[in-house]
Amino acid sequence: MRLTVIGCAGSFPGPESASSSYLVQADDEAGRTWSLLLDLGSGALGPLQRYCDPVDLDAIGLSHLHPDHMADMCGLYVYLKYRPRGHGGHAEGAGTGARRGPLDVHGPFGTASRLAAAYGLEPGESMTDQLAVHAWQPGRPIQVGPLTLTPVAVEHPVPAYGVRVTGPSERDPTRRVTLAYTGDTDSCPGLDALAREADVLLAEAAFVEGRDDDVRGIHLTGRRAGQAAADGGAGRLVLTHVPAWNPPGAAYDEAVAVYPGPIDLARPGMVVEL
Ligand SMILES: [Zn+2]
Ligand SMILES: [Zn+2]
Repeated sequence: MRLTVIGCAGSFPGPESASSSYLVQADDEAGRTWSLLLDLGSGALGPLQRYCDPVDLDAIGLSHLHPDHMADMCGLYVYLKYRPRGHGGHAEGAGTGARRGPLDVHGPFGTASRLAAAYGLEPGESMTDQLAVHAWQPGRPIQVGPLTLTPVAVEHPVPAYGVRVTGPSERDPTRRVTLAYTGDTDSCPGLDALAREADVLLAEAAFVEGRDDDVRGIHLTGRRAGQAAADGGAGRLVLTHVPAWNPPGAAYDEAVAVYPGPIDLARPGMVVEL
């Protein structure tokens, strides 16, 4: 299983990165590559195309419905619906530009109507020709080829989920490894459950200690992300969702003070093999 960071800017696209979007891929026993996209925030559809033809996505998981996590779903719909015949597609249907059916999209309750409103559909119109939208059921696993997704409710001002993705190790496919993605959250029991014995904890760190101490229930700081990784025994911490207005390196400096394991700051194009 491998993670490619498509966009890692927090809250809005920055000069160096699109908003949140993460490509998770794994090969099954037959050698077919399965592609799961976690979030498709503002600006992320462009760089996604460097790594994956969007037609080839097998599923999308939306952590929540803030624009920095789902705004580019509108552009994706246009791409899926209107691309010229013969354009794109590397999997089955290659050369025809055809998907095998609508793309599975997992998100909070209300995702379908929110996407339709964002796209400007009239009442009664829907996107079901291209997108099959399913509501997360906390704790109920979803299978995407060799990947198992488990959504976990977390603490944010709107319904929000982190996702544990378990799949075959890149180096030893007989071993199962876990990537835990926090989405947007403050410290909470859901975060603790996500981080527990994760091989990689991909954790947001939008807030800064000292600057944002009065605002709780929305985001992690680098320190709170590091504490979750330490408490859960996570093998590696990747900090992400850092807004462009934060002091560079603050999230890392906070996390390294409380988490003894390896820490990276996410950057666009970064690949993490699990
Ligand atoms: Zn966000
Ligand atoms: Zn949010």
